[in-house]
Amino acid sequence: MSTVRIQGIEYDEKSSFQQGARLAPPLIREAFYCPSANLSAENGQPIDVSRIQDQGDFKIADYFDIENITRDHLVDDTKILTLGGDHSITFPIIRAHHDRYPKLDILQIDAHSDLYDEFEGDRFSHACPFARIMENGLAVRLVQVGIRTLNPHQKEQAERFGVEIHQMKDLDLGTIGGFENPLYLSLDLDGIDPAFAPGVSHHEPGGLSSRQVIDLIQNIDAEIIGADIVEYNPERDFKGMTGYLAAKLMKEILSKMMKQ
Ligand code: MN
Ligand code: MN
Repeated sequence: MSTVRIQGIEYDEKSSFQQGARLAPPLIREAFYCPSANLSAENGQPIDVSRIQDQGDFKIADYFDIENITRDHLVDDTKILTLGGDHSITFPIIRAHHDRYPKLDILQIDAHSDLYDEFEGDRFSHACPFARIMENGLAVRLVQVGIRTLNPHQKEQAERFGVEIHQMKDLDLGTIGGFENPLYLSLDLDGIDPAFAPGVSHHEPGGLSSRQVIDLIQNIDAEIIGADIVEYNPERDFKGMTGYLAAKLMKEILSKMMKQ
């Protein structure tokens, strides 16, 4: 039975449009433990908090420290759930996982492909992490769900890297969920429609419902060895509703991660 370590990464320096995601980790945690809800996932099993090792939150001075912090936490047979932070943090996190998981599949939920070769002069922008992951051979498969902003450059990048994109415009959730390799789940909250998740920096209407994301997580047929919840921007939120959604999804993800 694996233990899950929680690490909060208070970093939004690579967010191109608005900052604020650095404020997210303690608020997601607060919503997670808030007595307004119990700690049972929808499968009826309460999350065993004795198997959570909370490492606390980290203020990041140097982007590449994120890899070292993650590596320090990735010991014994623990798995890591990261609370972000903007989406740039996923590249150093995946780099830290590579030694242990040389064959890794990634499921990314997002409005955006984040496959830019560079964005506004920065190759490590939150618009680029999955280009860095794929060109460094850190994932066997990258499956993206919720995409609704594909432009010609990112389409080209997706073809170059063999990324499997499930765009919103022709989404069939029933075809997603099976993976051969250990799976890393990267959840960018802007994949969810801003009607459900207003607390994100990029409002992109036409997204997934909360229910669809929960179903997607529950239907994953693979061992989830790590996950992140990123791009929650409390400064954009409405009465904390996105924080509570992040906490609900955290519960469902933890329940899957702890099952194996
Ligand atoms: Mn993203
Ligand atoms: Mn996004």
